[in-house]
Amino acid sequence: MKLIAIVAGVSLWMILCAEAKAQKPPLLPEKDVAALANEVSGEAAKRDLEGIARFHRQRGSKGFHEAAELVAERLRAYGLSGVAILQFPSDGKIFYGTQRSRPAWDGESAELTEVDYIGPTPCGEEVLKKALHMMVDCANLFLWKITGYEAEPITLAEDSESAEVRGGLVDVGRGTEESDYEDKQVKGNFVLVSAQPGAAQDLAVGKYGAIGIISYAQNQKTAWWGEDQNLIRWGHLDTFSKNKTFAFMVSPKTARILQEKLARKELRLLMASVKAGQHPGNYEVVTATIPGADPKLKDEEIVFSCHLDHERPGANDNASGCAAILEVARTLAKLTSEKRLERPARTIRFVFPPEIEGTLALLNGEGAAVPITENVRDGDPRLHTLYENAFHMHGAALAKRVKAVIHMDMVGGGPETKAVFHVTSGPMSLPSFVQDVAWAFADWVNEESYKFAATGKADYPMVAPEGGKEPLRAEYSAFTMGSDHDVYQDSSFGIPAIYLNDWPDRYIHTNFDSAANIDPTKLKRAAFIGAASGYVLAKLSGGDALDLFPAMTQGRDQRRILFAKRFRQLDKEEATKLFRVTAQYDGKEALSWHEFSPSPKGVMQTPSDVQIGASNEAKTSGTSLVIYSRKKEPKGPLAVFGYNYFAERAKAAGIETPKLLSYEGLWGSGEEYAYEVLNFADGKRNAQEIRDAVSAEYGPVPVEIVVEYLKALEKIGVVAVTH
Ligand SMILES: [Zn+2]
Repeated sequence: MKLIAIVAGVSLWMILCAEAKAQKPPLLPEKDVAALANEVSGEAAKRDLEGIARFHRQRGSKGFHEAAELVAERLRAYGLSGVAILQFPSDGKIFYGTQRSRPAWDGESAELTEVDYIGPTPCGEEVLKKALHMMVDCANLFLWKITGYEAEPITLAEDSESAEVRGGLVDVGRGTEESDYEDKQVKGNFVLVSAQPGAAQDLAVGKYGAIGIISYAQNQKTAWWGEDQNLIRWGHLDTFSKNKTFAFMVSPKTARILQEKLARKELRLLMASVKAGQHPGNYEVVTATIPGADPKLKDEEIVFSCHLDHERPGANDNASGCAAILEVARTLAKLTSEKRLERPARTIRFVFPPEIEGTLALLNGEGAAVPITENVRDGDPRLHTLYENAFHMHGAALAKRVKAVIHMDMVGGGPETKAVFHVTSGPMSLPSFVQDVAWAFADWVNEESYKFAATGKADYPMVAPEGGKEPLRAEYSAFTMGSDHDVYQDSSFGIPAIYLNDWPDRYIHTNFDSAANIDPTKLKRAAFIGAASGYVLAKLSGGDALDLFPAMTQGRDQRRILFAKRFRQLDKEEATKLFRVTAQYDGKEALSWHEFSPSPKGVMQTPSDVQIGASNEAKTSGTSLVIYSRKKEPKGPLAVFGYNYFAERAKAAGIETPKLLSYEGLWGSGEEYAYEVLNFADGKRNAQEIRDAVSAEYGPVPVEIVVEYLKALEKIGVVAVTH
């Protein structure tokens, strides 16, 4: 009975649904949406992805350069303007804002081999020496190749150095604590560790004299963590460690075999042969544009961003984001040149950098002067010439011309990856409507794709012929960190960003993040949402404000849902503060479109007119009332890629690690608090107000901990006290 009722209900609903009037697409005339939806191709994107995923794309490496050449060639073929591969010198000394450039790194070859023999040692020292070079002539000697760079470049940890060594193996557990090494004969042997090699190298190699590292570090934690014993995870050594070494990454299965042999005392000798190393090189950033049509507004830019680096295959992370923005480039270039879409007022730029560090080089590259210890400055004339040539800039620096960014990092995960697609809102320190634009399109694709999945009928199913038919089910999500959107939205740049990303992905950063798991339908939808959003933003002028209203209302409703869930976790006092902070956010967000209005004066009140704080006086006193403001330089978040600006300077100044950096809040922790505390230090908020703002975002935190961090920032010269 119950079953029948359900079935009848469902079929009635299906009929209603099929007969319901199609939902009008948001923000653009339907003919524009139809043109975009028809042109954007998941197959074309996947073909580009397959090309990119062939390369082992480490920063500054040959593989990265080959991928960059491929992207540049595609951009030229797609008819983009000003296609260039920008080069920013990276030698370990030059700074780009907060990023100490990391020297380029290349691997050439690497093999890890077990040497075994039957019976008593039959071959003597000479043969073993030869065995190291694979010139073996001994009937009883067996060489078992454990892993090699030729087949799996991921097996060689980034920043490994050349070596020809052999020795025994010692299992040291995680390998990150002194106690892991107690009573073990590490000197002259390899160590097997479960941590990332970079976390173990100073103890293992520096202190205890290991000859090399074998790591079976596991993937990022998700529900599927540890299930697949065949995954080899991407590994890193510390770029700047004095204890240079090499490390092999192996699967948990391989590690277990080695451990079992150790337990049975059957593992006699390992040999490693590595040709790899750091060298001065360049961060390369591919770029191209679709020039804007308006004589004035063409100097403003909407940027499509991804990151082109990472281990091979790195299909979802992040060949997918790069292939998707390439498809946006192809689609917009084609439709505007054929006049099926009006060419937008603002210039649309596409950038393909190595993650975070390349974006910092790009945004800081022109003339930013940061005094640093090595006396090499990022105002180096070499950089200026390169940058000037590439951008033909005679006006404001790129960072000042960019109005908004659409950043894609992991946007192709099919069902096999378990990915959920997110439209991620910005940090609360940078209220903006741009994410609402993306959410309006994503929500519409959600509805259309669900209608199609449920009934087989929809005006815009957004399905690629070779792709899946599952509904998109994109989620509107609170701000999360971890990719280039952090850099743009850092308060030193203040550029709002739409961040489209998959999470979880059970294959991220492993040898199984392969093109086979990428769904062309997903790529099509991500590219469509990005293209439509970017096109709206590139066209937007003051007169369009009313058109934004429904999208902004929808976005606000989504945020309200997120905030409502947070309210329930707070006591009355904290809930009141949260309410105030969210109201301030909404007020500023509502005015944020004025950034896009050609003549803002007289049309609006400025965001700074919205009251901040105001009712904390009763509780605050002393240090809580001090107002901090961020200095102009250095630009960028303080913890960046492979380098921590704060940690290096705090150590030099003898500052104890502030408690904030390990603080666990209700909705966020350490680095997240730190990122936003600095962003909120705007010369208007006092320490208590900064505390209330980050507490609304990541959960209540004691004001003393925030003050301690602000004082540390003041000591290293990043913020100043405003009187
Ligand atoms: Zn990524």
